[in-house]
Amino acid sequence: MSILTILQFPDPKLRQKAAPVVSVDDSIRTLVDDMFETMYSAPGIGLAAVQVNVLKRVIVIDISEDKSQPKCFINPEIVKRSGDEKMDEGCLSVPGIYEPVSRAKEITVRYLDRDGNAQELAVDGLLAVCVQHEMDHLDGKLFVDYLSEMKRNRIRKKMEKIRQHTM
Ligand code: ZN
Repeated sequence: MSILTILQFPDPKLRQKAAPVVSVDDSIRTLVDDMFETMYSAPGIGLAAVQVNVLKRVIVIDISEDKSQPKCFINPEIVKRSGDEKMDEGCLSVPGIYEPVSRAKEITVRYLDRDGNAQELAVDGLLAVCVQHEMDHLDGKLFVDYLSEMKRNRIRKKMEKIRQHTM
């Protein structure tokens, strides 16, 4: 397994759209394993393939505190959504920034698992927020897009400043 480089906002590569996975083979399983390792080492609770510059519809999530609930969603699709919930979100591509975003409270997601089997799962709370956040990444969308332009520009400037100092 290997740790992949996570793209940082405002890298334009984060705006790329991911394509559906045609078949869940060993290369996809390796990607999933690498994404889990990358997410855990960050550390974070979710990661989308676009964030590591791989344009495939793959996301990994684990909201547990002890790495005990790894979940991977391949070609995820939300087939049902209800309610509304506002929660503070953060992102491994926008480190150190936490802002409230409104999402559906409960969703049902259809996807392929690590073995390529079709699954359907109803989730709510933090897991529902996380799935929606990561699925946005697959369409080149970031949680800062839900904020005001003024706020987003402030975050962009802050990120660019940090980058200059670390390079
Ligand atoms: Zn994110």
